[in-house]
Amino acid sequence: MADYIDKMANYEEIFWINPDFVPPAEEPQNTEKIVDIDDAEARLARFAPFIRRMFPEVEDGIIESPLTALKSNEDGRFFLKQDSHLPISGSIKARGGIYEVLKLAETLAVEAGLLHWNPDTGEHDDYAKLGDPEMKEFFSKYKVAVGSTGNLGLSIGIISAAIGFEVTVHMSADARQWKKDMLRSKGVTVVEYPDDYEAAVAQGRREAQADPTCHFVDDENSLDLFAGYSVAGRRLKKQLDALGVTVDEEHRMYVYLPCGVGGAPGGVAYGIRETFGEGVYCFFAEPTHAPCMALGLISGKLNSIAVGDIGIDGKTEADGLAVGRPSGLVAKAMQTRLSGCFTVDDAKLYPYLAGLKDSTGIFIEPSACAAFEGLKYICDGAFAPAPDEKSIHVIWATGGNMVPEEEKIAYYERGKK
Ligand SMILES: *Cc1c(COP(=O)(O)O)cnc(C)c1O
Repeated sequence: MADYIDKMANYEEIFWINPDFVPPAEEPQNTEKIVDIDDAEARLARFAPFIRRMFPEVEDGIIESPLTALKSNEDGRFFLKQDSHLPISGSIKARGGIYEVLKLAETLAVEAGLLHWNPDTGEHDDYAKLGDPEMKEFFSKYKVAVGSTGNLGLSIGIISAAIGFEVTVHMSADARQWKKDMLRSKGVTVVEYPDDYEAAVAQGRREAQADPTCHFVDDENSLDLFAGYSVAGRRLKKQLDALGVTVDEEHRMYVYLPCGVGGAPGGVAYGIRETFGEGVYCFFAEPTHAPCMALGLISGKLNSIAVGDIGIDGKTEADGLAVGRPSGLVAKAMQTRLSGCFTVDDAKLYPYLAGLKDSTGIFIEPSACAAFEGLKYICDGAFAPAPDEKSIHVIWATGGNMVPEEEKIAYYERGKK
């Protein structure tokens, strides 16, 4: 353990295998479910007519991303899960962030008697009515606030504005200017902080707590966010089934997920494990300058340790991953469920970005590129069981489609140098 922490303190890359991983079959029978994935999936289905009404580009009202085959070799088949191209907000945050705000809208409207949904019988109104002007008027009495490095703010801002909530996004210094500009153009209040993400979240939380009409989306502790992300496991299974791809102990699946505070990759990893069971191995990718989840898990201190405690700065080009302290909820959940963590030097992100663009035409943002680094370790046999030609690899591309064209070109050119 000291070895890994020394390396992290020197900004060196690590690949760590979780010694406390418990295979699903060995999980104690009485292990409590963290969230109810069926409930979350059903809620998203109820909202499909509303999503279709407000965002006609989402034809079936289900916010989902393509699973794209990249290549095959003796290590198996490689897929890119393009959450970079999720509708509405172009990042993985369109899963958890949108889910939490929809759930809030449902709860408020049902309590006020403006929407009928009977959880016992499953009976409900057509949720498209939530887009009526009277409903927007009703929702405008309520506020939503969130602290974010950027993409969560985009998701929460866009969906809250569509529903009619008054929304404030507290953004850390790492957030890109275009993300702030885009939110302001949609009528979202953006408060900027000179400090890091943790400070932005703390301030947002304080302001929201002082106001009973304000709902704070708590990226560090929210079970609703986690539930929204967890539905991804079901969706991935449907996509693999449609391709005739089996996942089990014989046909293993390795999943590579970029990690910031941990909510998104944690929820997705949880949902994948619950959906597929045996034969699935999830790994988190973090920048060498902000390996908060690796540090929390390796030290065993979870969220009671931050990267600053080992003297590192938390500053990274991977803006979506610029987080110094992991979510306690997620760190705890991952202690026995995650297969491992690896860290990536920022300098590698842009060449990965340009390489993917050249080989497939697909653009993903620097944060999302961290996932690629995991292939090196797994395909070189650093982990057992090692992959073979029956395996599949899923590289979770967490964001990129909303990046303005000039920025895309600048990132690409940097990668070509
Ligand atoms: C938010 C984000 C992540 C990580 O999600 P966390 O919930 O912060 O761990 C990864 N990649 C991108 C592009 C993101 O926006």
